[in-house]
Amino acid sequence: MRKVLSIVLPIYNEEKCIDALWERLRLLKQRIDGYGIEFIMVNDGSSDRSLTMMKGIAERHHNVKILSFSRNFGHQVALSAGLEHARGDVVVVMDADLQDPPELIVDMLSKYQEGYDIVYAVRRERRGETSFKRKSASWFYKTLNRLSSTPIPQNTGDFRLLSRRAVDAFNRLGEKDRFLRGMLSWIGFNQVGIEYDRPPRIAGETKYPLKKMLLFALDGIVSFSNLPLRLATWLGFFTSFLALLYIVVVLIKKFLGYTLPGYASIMVSILFLGGVQLITIGILGEYISRIYNEAKGRPLYIIEETVNCNDYQHTEDEPQST
Ligand code: UDP
Ligand code: MG
Repeated sequence: MRKVLSIVLPIYNEEKCIDALWERLRLLKQRIDGYGIEFIMVNDGSSDRSLTMMKGIAERHHNVKILSFSRNFGHQVALSAGLEHARGDVVVVMDADLQDPPELIVDMLSKYQEGYDIVYAVRRERRGETSFKRKSASWFYKTLNRLSSTPIPQNTGDFRLLSRRAVDAFNRLGEKDRFLRGMLSWIGFNQVGIEYDRPPRIAGETKYPLKKMLLFALDGIVSFSNLPLRLATWLGFFTSFLALLYIVVVLIKKFLGYTLPGYASIMVSILFLGGVQLITIGILGEYISRIYNEAKGRPLYIIEETVNCNDYQHTEDEPQST
C-alpha cells in the first residue's frame, strides 16, 4: 500500500494567498513519488472569501478536506485540529501564506525516510520581517530555553513534518493553552532540523500583531516553565531578608536615641514591598488563569462545517465514487 502524506494548512483570511498556494502545492505533488496526498485546510473563522475559495478547490479535488471553525480559535488551535483529523502516515504542518516553501517537504520526506520522527524547518534568514521581530524572537527563545527544561529549538516556527507515531503522541496532549513548538519538543522521538531561508509572505498581512505575539510568548513561558513561580518565592525570601536587616537597623537606631520621623524610609519600604507583592500576585494569577482554563474543560474548537471528510480515504484527485 502506498503511504499517505497529509498536509495541514491553517487559514485565516488568506484570500489573497490561496490561489498561489494551491498552484505551488500542485507543482509539489508532481515532485513527490510514492505517496498519496491529502490536504487538510482548517478555516479558522475567516471573514473574507477564503472559505468559498477553499470549497472551490475541494469540489474539484476530493483529497482536499476542509474543517471550518465556527469562529476564529487561533493559529495553534487550528493546527491542533488539523493534526487530529490527519489520517496520513506522515503529516506536514505549514502556513498558508507561502512563508513555508512547500518544496522543502521533499527534503523533509527524505529525512523521514532516514528514520526521523520529527523534521522541523530552521529559519536561516528571515526576509520581510522587521529587525525588531527577529531580535525579540531570538531573545525570547534564549530566555525560554533558560527557563524551561524542555529544549525548544531556536529560529523554528511550526513548519514541520511528523511521523504517525509523533502525531499520535501529540494528540494525547490535552492542554488547552497550546504552544505547539514546545509540546512537539516535549514528546521526544528522533528530531532533526533542516535549514531554509524564510521568504516574506506573498500577499496579505501578518495575523500576529505585537499584542498577539506577546500573548503567545507568555503562553510559551507559562506552559513550559514553573520558574516564574519559584522566582516569586525567591523574591519573597529576598525581600523578607532585606526587611529583617532593616528592622535590626531601626531597633539599633531606636536604642541609640535616633527617633526622628522616617518618612523617606517608610515610603521606600512600602513602595518596594507593594511592588514585589503585586508582581508575585500577577505571576500567581497567570498560572491560576491557566488552571481555570483547564478546569473548565471546554473543547479546543467547534467545527461548523466539514467538506470531503468522510471515512473513505481520498488521496488522489479522483471524483467521489458515489
Ligand atoms: N492563522 C490562523 N489563525 C489565526 C492567525 C493565523 O489560522 O488566528 C494562520 C494564517 O492564515 C497563516 C498562519 O496561521 O496561514 C500563520 O500566520 P501568519 O502568517 O499571519 O503569521 P506570521 O508568519 O506572520 O508569524
Ligand atoms: Mg506568515
